[in-house]
Amino acid sequence: MRVRNKPWAKDKLNQYSQYVISEPEKHKGNWSELFGNDNPIHIEVGTGKGKFVTEMAKANPEINYIGIELFESVLVTALDLILEDERPNVKLLNVNAKDLTDYFAEGDVDRVYLNFSDPWPKTRHAKRRLTYKTFLNLYEKILVKGGEIHFKTDNQGLFEYSLKSFSEYGLLLTFISLDLHKSDFEGNIMTEYEEKFSSKGQRIYRCEVKYQN
Ligand code: SAM
Repeated sequence: MRVRNKPWAKDKLNQYSQYVISEPEKHKGNWSELFGNDNPIHIEVGTGKGKFVTEMAKANPEINYIGIELFESVLVTALDLILEDERPNVKLLNVNAKDLTDYFAEGDVDRVYLNFSDPWPKTRHAKRRLTYKTFLNLYEKILVKGGEIHFKTDNQGLFEYSLKSFSEYGLLLTFISLDLHKSDFEGNIMTEYEEKFSSKGQRIYRCEVKYQN
């Protein structure tokens, strides 16, 4: 994804440390203390501009959400959305998902959302896909037993690759839709990319998979 440089973004993220957690490693194994409750924790890896996590947090106050994003210039828009209505059950991390186990201990996370992850279409870049086996192993290390991944994309190639990767890893497929917006799935919250692609008439693929550990 092309990212516009915003030199002021880092300072702004630092200014709102109640929402953008600056030293996430300090909360490893103890996120419930930060949220002030024992509610389940759902993370979105590659949260982008944060529409999904902020709207999910509003719709589900009994769940804690953490949006994880590599680029500060994108995450700053997610912060603006949070500041519009200051929910206590949503936090942001400006980190690389490859380091997830530095920030989360086994069982810290109840669900992983992957929405419109970068497809990395070239075979030589397959390891960068957030559904590559090394990422599936990272998610397994931080999820509760039987934890779930919920995955949405407009990209048929990435969806097919991911179904294969999930299956090879031994994950159990519990939900699949090959055209989410024409299905009877209820309560869908659209991401920025989902709005963009579906407005162009592209179909949205969605699945849920579960670890069998
Ligand atoms: N989920 C949002 C949506 O659906 O609108 C954003 C989708 S965008 C195509 C993918 C996002 O994932 C980008 O903002 C990118 O910076 C982020 N991303 C990709 N790899 C990442 C990684 N290893 N760690 C954290 N964020 C990552």
